[in-house]
Amino acid sequence: MTGQQAAELARTRQPLPEGERLSVIMLYYSVRGIYRSYEAKELTLEQAKRAKQDALREYDSLALSERCHIEDARRWSEICRVLNKAEKCGCEYCKEVARIFDGRQRMSKLA
Ligand SMILES: [Zn+2]
Repeated sequence: MTGQQAAELARTRQPLPEGERLSVIMLYYSVRGIYRSYEAKELTLEQAKRAKQDALREYDSLALSERCHIEDARRWSEICRVLNKAEKCGCEYCKEVARIFDGRQRMSKLA
């Protein structure tokens, strides 16, 4: 779900589907609160618009972080899979790479 879709659900008072990412959940409740505050006349239209823009900007930043973390997790999972094979290979290069990745050998030792 995109940020715009989550904001639209909040605006139209529709429930958020389960299993959404944290960034989507936070945006949804932020926007819902902004609309409620506007309706209760706690915010002017201008303040509400600005608050919604801020919430969407924060969403973009958090969503980018989430995508980076997911990509890192995938990459590390793939590295671990290959390192298992490298350990079993037994040649000096594979053993050295495995030692570097799991921290048994410091990078400075290579210099
Ligand atoms: Zn090898």
